[in-house]
Amino acid sequence: MSPRRAAAFIAIIYLILGLVWIRFSDQFALALAADSNLLTELQTFKGWAYVIVTTGIFYFLSKTALDREHNLSERDGLTRLLNRHMFARELSSEIEFCRENEQTMVLIVLNLDGFKQLNSTAGSDVGDRYLQSIAGLLRDHFKQRVLLGRFGGDEFAIAIPAVTWLDQVLPQAQHLQQLIQAQIIPELPDSALSACFGIARFPADSSNAEQLIEAALTALEEAKSMGSNRLRLYKSEYGEHASKRTKLLFDLKTAIANKKLSIVYQPQFNLTDQRISGVEVLARWHHPEEGFIPPDIFIPLAEQHGLICAITDFIMPTAIRELLHADLLYGSIPRLSFNVSAADFNTNTSTQRFLHNLADLPGDWSVIELELTETSALLNLEGVKNVLKVLRERGVQVSLDDFGTGYSSLNTLRLLPIQELKIDQSFVRDLANNAHDARLVKTILAMANALHLRVVAEGVESQQQARYLQQQGCQEVQGFLYAKPMGLQSLKSFVHNIRASAVQL
Ligand code: C2E
Ligand code: CA
Ligand code: CA
Repeated sequence: MSPRRAAAFIAIIYLILGLVWIRFSDQFALALAADSNLLTELQTFKGWAYVIVTTGIFYFLSKTALDREHNLSERDGLTRLLNRHMFARELSSEIEFCRENEQTMVLIVLNLDGFKQLNSTAGSDVGDRYLQSIAGLLRDHFKQRVLLGRFGGDEFAIAIPAVTWLDQVLPQAQHLQQLIQAQIIPELPDSALSACFGIARFPADSSNAEQLIEAALTALEEAKSMGSNRLRLYKSEYGEHASKRTKLLFDLKTAIANKKLSIVYQPQFNLTDQRISGVEVLARWHHPEEGFIPPDIFIPLAEQHGLICAITDFIMPTAIRELLHADLLYGSIPRLSFNVSAADFNTNTSTQRFLHNLADLPGDWSVIELELTETSALLNLEGVKNVLKVLRERGVQVSLDDFGTGYSSLNTLRLLPIQELKIDQSFVRDLANNAHDARLVKTILAMANALHLRVVAEGVESQQQARYLQQQGCQEVQGFLYAKPMGLQSLKSFVHNIRASAVQL
């Protein structure tokens, strides 16, 4: 209720009370008092009674209104969870309690991946309803007593007091991560967001509320720097990582602006005809002081800070130009695969960017393949679909990278126009020793066959893995067993040698 309405409400109650009193109190006194002396006494008593009753009612009404106001400023207006200020206060009391009783506590902060995108594509009303649904999910998820807060935007906090072992909390946090991925957005039923989690413990990581929050936020930042859907437990070195990342980000911007990134190519092979079936293009960054920075570090950094499109816009035309110039594309290399990220599909100029990046191709665009992960596709499904619709018409192929590691890879196959699956290295790694992984790979291959999808197994490092894959009908492989990622000159010689000797794979 607004202050004006609250004041009007109190005034109306006063008015009604006054009118009732004027209208009925004299009649009531006359009915009670037979003689005039008693009536005079009653009149005096009547005045006192009026003052006492109205004082009581005023006290009650104004306290209710003020309590409500106070409560509102403690809670976040959208989700009704504690705001950051109140969360810190309550956390402080919980910490005191835990300290006195020698108990531990766990603080989780989580941040939604791709929420900004949801807000800008579907509108802030959809975003608000989604945040409310996440708040509902948090309320329902924890069976024990927890403290829930929203730190503004898409950041939530959960404090779990009286935890004996961290092992109790980790499965709950991981399950919550899965539930967030499964959370339906009614307006975009096929989309799904994920969340990164940062976790800190009292007293191991910090002894007071503000520091505990800072520690959990540092762990969250570390998780986000690894990509989406990650979880990190606080470690003291994360603070140092954060300042290193700030410097690295600055240097990455400079490297992109000065075109200092480079490109390597990793061949893929067809096991049936033992020829190169394609190459995957991988970005490389040699930092002037730090040396080689792995893409697993700088790609998520670029994704987080809006630099990924600049990287794609450099890598795509450069690789095409290099391979055309070396006379490899269309002939020795029949397919060129590029890794793309969610942000590549985020703006209304995305389609134009891709068309522009591929414009130098002299022939059929089916030599080009885009590799996207399920996690990135689902972050902005509508954007991805719109761009792919246009590119598919031109012949561009689509591969689902890291297949099997996402939330519901089968559903993604239904939603996007996909021609290829890349079986994630994590499944291939243990093929020889892990019967479960072997069965999974076998099932993926059978399913892909039924759906007429091409399969590339990645991360093939041993003959044993290669044999198993071939036995199960996998047509294409990529991995260190055959070829490591290499620069253009090495690729030229590699192709030349293969042609000359028709290598035995
Ligand atoms: P990815 O798309 O899954 O790429 C395959 C990664 O596996 C590459 O790592 C490659 O070097 C590595 N690899 C290939 N064969 C083997 C093997 O037999 N054993 C092992 N252990 N590893 C193998 P890399 O180059 O470090 O790239 C890492 C990730 O960075 C890529 O994973 C991709 O997600 C991302 N990335 C790289 N370049 C780009 C780019 O230009 N754009 C975008 N958006 N992402 C990129
Ligand atoms: Ca890839
Ligand atoms: Ca992959």
